[in-house]
Amino acid sequence: MTENERIFWNRVLELAQSQLKQATFDFFVSDAKLIKVEQNQATILIDDMKKLFWEKNLQPVLLTAGFEVFNTELLITYVFEEDQAEKGDSSAPQSQKSPVLETLPSVHPDLNPKYSFDNFVIGDENRWAFTASTAVADLPGSAYNPLFIYGGPGLGKTHLLNAIGNAVLAENPQARIKYISAENFINEFVVHIRLQNMDELKQKFRSLDLLLIDDIQSLAKKSLAATQEEFFNTFNALHDNNKQIVLTSDRTPDDLNDLEQRLVTRFKWGLTVNITPPDFETRVAILNNKIQEYNYQFLPETIEYLAGQFDSNVRDLEGALKDISLVANFKNLDLITVEVAAEAIRARKQDSNPKMTIIPIEKIQKEVSKFYGVTVKEIQSTKRNQDIVLARQVAMYLARELTDNSLPKIGKEFGGRDHSTVLHAYNKIKNMLEQDDSLRIEMDTIKNKIK
Ligand code: ADP
Ligand code: MG
Repeated sequence: MTENERIFWNRVLELAQSQLKQATFDFFVSDAKLIKVEQNQATILIDDMKKLFWEKNLQPVLLTAGFEVFNTELLITYVFEEDQAEKGDSSAPQSQKSPVLETLPSVHPDLNPKYSFDNFVIGDENRWAFTASTAVADLPGSAYNPLFIYGGPGLGKTHLLNAIGNAVLAENPQARIKYISAENFINEFVVHIRLQNMDELKQKFRSLDLLLIDDIQSLAKKSLAATQEEFFNTFNALHDNNKQIVLTSDRTPDDLNDLEQRLVTRFKWGLTVNITPPDFETRVAILNNKIQEYNYQFLPETIEYLAGQFDSNVRDLEGALKDISLVANFKNLDLITVEVAAEAIRARKQDSNPKMTIIPIEKIQKEVSKFYGVTVKEIQSTKRNQDIVLARQVAMYLARELTDNSLPKIGKEFGGRDHSTVLHAYNKIKNMLEQDDSLRIEMDTIKNKIK
């Protein structure tokens, strides 16, 4: 056994011991042996009657230890005592194929073939989500069930969900797979209720091998109690039969307010993984991955420039490449410089950061006081003259509207006022603007001076 194999196996035993009751550990785990780890594949010798237990309960442990020691997700192969005796070191086939049920209605998986594990760029922010997704695709129903992936928009949740489906389909073309957004699930439910053929819907969803539900937060509404009930029954039917369910959401199960508690509880039965926004390095890696297909070149500094411009989501990075692509094709460019990129993405940058223009609050105070013939000091003071109060409130309104500063920060810049004062001023001016044409014109004049 190599040093790494030894460390890996010790870690597996340690993790298993910490998670299982002693008697369970003694019975199922203590006599298992690691045969080898080779080419990302761990071969483990167990008693064949214990295989199901290992698949159901120890897959996460094996993956975790594999990840820690070999920095990759291991494929696990079990071999059994008899195999060892008869054929030496042969591996038993792994994937549990579900029986083909000829009588069932066919189901369209609705997968997007564009999304695969191969074209998903791994960074620290999505590594666990990726690893868990591949584990689920390798052993649907046995690794983690359900797998619950959550994170902000444009971070690859839909991508991973489809990648799982595509991988399972490639391995087993007979598998009954369905990708559906929770939104469409709700729609289907409503349509079937109206057409009074709920049985068909039930049969369709409950006979699946793999159900991929995107954006489950849409189901979290009080008004959808009946749909939640149907989803609950579908979930149970699938889970009871070891059929895999994967869910994505923009928030954690616990934050799905207005979702029935029993569903929240079930969502937490398996594994919950988070995806966070990519850091700079990952953004560079994603860009480099995506530009491979283009027939023009990017300067490395252009890539770094782009990675610096959009930092919260991958969809924006892709959008930026599309903007550049338009320009490059139109102008027949074969090298993308920082200047070209900056010009191409200008509109998008403003869209994604409407309040980006950095206007100092000072500047707003200065222009507003000039306009109303008061001093900046007076705006920041507590004086209650009508003119000063109006100028102060207009300035606070603009500070809120034109800058990214928080209410407390704005309050601080106005002589240390409370954030509720700023909010009050903002609302008051906002209401006045709706009724008072001359104030609206004044406001536009001031704004033009500030920008
Ligand atoms: P979400 O469902 O989380 O809102 P998507 O899966 O729709 O996000 O991702 C938005 C876009 O960004 C998709 O085109 C997807 O392929 C791409 N994307 C997101 N994360 C990655 C990644 N890690 N590697 C490659 N492409 C990614
Ligand atoms: Mg999505």
